[in-house]
Amino acid sequence: MDETILVVNCGSSSIKLALFDSNHHKKASALAERLNQSDASARISGDQAPVQLPENACHEQALQALVQAFEDRNLMGGKPVSIGHRVVHGGESFREAVLIDDKAVKAIETCAALAPLHNPVNLIGIQATRKLFPDCPQVAVFDTAFHQTLPPKAYLYALPERYYRDWGVRRYGFHGTSHYFMVLETARRLNKTPATTSIISAHLGNGCSITAIEDGISKDTSMGLTPLEGLVMGTRSGDVDPGLFDYLASRGVNASQAHRVLNQESGLLGLSGQTNDMRSLCELADHGHEPSELAIDVFCYRLAKYFGAMMASLNRLDALVFTGGIGENSARIRAQTIQHLSLLGIGLDADLNAHHGQFSEGHIGDADSRFPVLVIPTDEELVIAREASRLANAN
Ligand code: ADP
Repeated sequence: MDETILVVNCGSSSIKLALFDSNHHKKASALAERLNQSDASARISGDQAPVQLPENACHEQALQALVQAFEDRNLMGGKPVSIGHRVVHGGESFREAVLIDDKAVKAIETCAALAPLHNPVNLIGIQATRKLFPDCPQVAVFDTAFHQTLPPKAYLYALPERYYRDWGVRRYGFHGTSHYFMVLETARRLNKTPATTSIISAHLGNGCSITAIEDGISKDTSMGLTPLEGLVMGTRSGDVDPGLFDYLASRGVNASQAHRVLNQESGLLGLSGQTNDMRSLCELADHGHEPSELAIDVFCYRLAKYFGAMMASLNRLDALVFTGGIGENSARIRAQTIQHLSLLGIGLDADLNAHHGQFSEGHIGDADSRFPVLVIPTDEELVIAREASRLANAN
């Protein structure tokens, strides 16, 4: 039986698991959703029957049930040889993935102050798999690590310096695993090495961020201290005037209410009043729903502004890259965004764009475009699996 690498991605109310073989091909995946709620559910991809969970199943129970279900279907091939965990915030402690030991767990706990919704559940996943597979090497792969190369001029806010020194207030950036994969894949498609490849990578899913990468190294990115800064997202506002908080307070909206509004009730959902789902929003706009049209306009315009802004951090550019559920699948969003960049000499081929670059290794730019434009499906799980086996083998 082939060796297995288990990849664990614990979100605030969900768990995604994936199994890879020793050649890093995905063998199976599974998802548990609405955890800690009465309608918690879990299933293995491709299976009709759901995996049974206890009522109000927590992360640990769901993880156990899914691992058991993998075993029942003979998908595990014995114990995993390594386990890779997605961890959202590594602060300044982690510049790259690490083998998890007690010291690493402590450091991830410390970083939880910066990501209170994410790091604690990531740790629950780590503790649960340590219990299930005590002898198996476990690796943490951080969303922030790829951005630890940002220069001070990109990561410092113009605040009193002591806020950074004493409290770690700075820009960290997220989605690093996906942006890193984009530079690997772009390099492969352009017949270059990652270390000589410079791109602007837009990861557009429920969360959205854009990163300037020069010679394989992250130079600037749109998310900041938290994943709220930058682009318009499904339910997150992205950039707002910090003066907003004072004004909202004068209207009786306190800090925790403002936090909820900006994180959960804003973005595409807030603007459209209908949905945070871009596909549904495009359908509504097609049927003449004006607030949805406007939400799309704001989304694309903000994104285009950030493409322009990211050029300031690069000396060289090989390609603009779209990824994530929206970036990979929405020809409309790509076209409407790139339209704003005509002054920079960037244009799309309508046909290639409509086909998501499927016939051209992802290329969707037109023949005259000053820079290639690519659509590349992201695969964060693959990066985590590779890191898990690299560090486990080096052990
Ligand atoms: P997550 O950040 O949760 O991983 P995804 O990367 O899967 O999310 O992206 C989800 C987003 O992608 C949703 O807004 C969804 O509507 C959007 N999306 C998926 N397919 C399409 C499509 N064909 N057209 C427009 N948006 C799409």
